[in-house]
Amino acid sequence: MKKITKILLSEKEMPRQWYNIQADMPNKPLPPLHPVTREPIGPDALAAVFPMELIKQEVSQERYIDIPEEVVDLYRMYRPSPLYRAYNLEKKLGTKSRIYYKYEGGNYSGSHKANTAIAQAYYNKQEGIKRITTETGAGQWGSAMSFACQHFGLELLVFMVRVSYDSKPGRKIMMNSYNAKVVPSPSTMTEAGRKVLEADPDSPGSLGIAISEAMEIAIQDPYTKYSLGSVLNHVILHQTIIGQEALLQMEKADDYPDVVIGCFGGGSNFSGIAFPFLREKLLNGKNVRLLTVEPASCPKLTKGKFMYDFGDSAGMTPLLPMYTLGHNFIPEKIHAGGLRYHGAGVLVSQLLKDGFIEAKAKLQRECFEAGVLFSRTEGILPAPESNYAIAAALDEARKSDIEGVPRTILFNLSGHGHMDISAYEKYFEGNLPDHEMTEAEVEEAIAKIKLPD
Ligand SMILES: *Cc1c(COP(=O)(O)O)cnc(C)c1O
Repeated sequence: MKKITKILLSEKEMPRQWYNIQADMPNKPLPPLHPVTREPIGPDALAAVFPMELIKQEVSQERYIDIPEEVVDLYRMYRPSPLYRAYNLEKKLGTKSRIYYKYEGGNYSGSHKANTAIAQAYYNKQEGIKRITTETGAGQWGSAMSFACQHFGLELLVFMVRVSYDSKPGRKIMMNSYNAKVVPSPSTMTEAGRKVLEADPDSPGSLGIAISEAMEIAIQDPYTKYSLGSVLNHVILHQTIIGQEALLQMEKADDYPDVVIGCFGGGSNFSGIAFPFLREKLLNGKNVRLLTVEPASCPKLTKGKFMYDFGDSAGMTPLLPMYTLGHNFIPEKIHAGGLRYHGAGVLVSQLLKDGFIEAKAKLQRECFEAGVLFSRTEGILPAPESNYAIAAALDEARKSDIEGVPRTILFNLSGHGHMDISAYEKYFEGNLPDHEMTEAEVEEAIAKIKLPD
């Protein structure tokens, strides 16, 4: 095996197509339903919220979808992204396994979210849209979308989850620099926000609430559309550029992963790296485990229920078949803000249910510990969200050593933590509490799910 630390692709080698897992899923996902009639909704029902091309991608059964040239041009600013062999981490662990990571933090937004932000802004622009509304948790998605909208000449209004707005002022200023307007959510600008504030004036907010607010504004104006940073099929589609590249890079490294790992908020970075490998498993029999990691304080995949639920807290989305903790659930204020979402994307949910992927939950302190070890060996300070993937990769290496079976481990380093310094500060001060949702709390949250009669 060649010893290379950084496995690069040239611009020419960058894949020109996204991969659509829907073409190859043994069980197709159940359809979204109209909340009142409970009938499957057609693509038209989404037209008030999304541009047509993205709706087509949402339901497409084509295996590959061409990446438009204008999107490729912006991808070229930072793609192909590097894949690293973590030699120094391996050495520190004393593991016999090989650990690789794909680094998605090396772009303007600092996370994988740029991959879909650019594509979404492009398709909206193509269809004559003037303004986009969106939500952001920790701020990575808002930053990603701010620059993409600015580039394509679109206005952007961001509803930022209150707890992050207060704890991460840097992200807000970054979005303002890219010319976006940022409002803390819940806000008084919308019916959905006012309702939450009436019940709890100190609400820390949630992604579910911020989504309701952004959608409410979008449906009032034909030139305004809404944009979501994860969960949906078209978002996951755009993120498959990560795995498409990683496949080529593993080939260059003359190696192949036994396990592919990603952290889990709504499913987009995990699916982005994992789905092209799942294709190789389904179509070409190349064996691989796909493992996703969520916070123990927001355990929709490991403790939630597979059912129809809303994607937002006010119930404005169609009903989606997914693992959920209930659309009204407000997760604990952990620092991995991007993982504080009550549900899971439809594609991941179906694949988890069918046993094609695995999920586990972790406490935040152990994940920060893993992230700090990673920074001290590999030199990159990871996003708090990415720490969950790192912690799981360490588990896999240790397990392999105990079993005496060295394995090849690949994880997605979804972003850097340069804007999350205060979370690390709290960790070093010993002020980062662990929180785990108990079975009883999950049952209580799920019992609160109220769907329209
Ligand atoms: C948003 C975010 C996540 C979680 O979202 P997914 O849709 O599950 O990928 C993970 N890591 C980083 C750095 C993020 O910004």
